[in-house]
Amino acid sequence: MSYDPNNIFAKILRGEIPCKKISEDEFYLAFHDIQPRAPIHALVIPKSAYKDVYDFNQNAKNEEIIGFCKGINQVTQLLNLNQDGFRLISNSGVYGGQEVPHYHVHLLGGKKLGPMLFSS
Ligand code: 5GP
Repeated sequence: MSYDPNNIFAKILRGEIPCKKISEDEFYLAFHDIQPRAPIHALVIPKSAYKDVYDFNQNAKNEEIIGFCKGINQVTQLLNLNQDGFRLISNSGVYGGQEVPHYHVHLLGGKKLGPMLFSS
């Protein structure tokens, strides 16, 4: 499946839908999740069109990958997540439970988050 330019994060990037922005640069945009699952729940997305982590790691230029990773670190600093720790998640595809098909990572923190997954 190819990238869908009408996904909600593409609309946020184009300014068609508002977001509670945390920070951005040429490589990434970070904003608060509309339905937070933790006291701090940020989303970090690349500025360019990639549908998931595999697509990004496979096809993005090295400078985009480095810029995106540095962006994640900038957000952890801005949200003071480094001292107590945080969780970084990227859902991919159907089994991963990905809802929005523009690559993003969830940054979760602000309390002890407990086990990563419930047992199946
Ligand atoms: P996924 O399941 O794709 O990994 O996560 C998508 C995330 O995007 C969800 O946590 C959901 O709450 C969030 N989300 C969906 N629509 C919007 C929106 O319009 N604005 C913001 N800020 N977050 C959204």
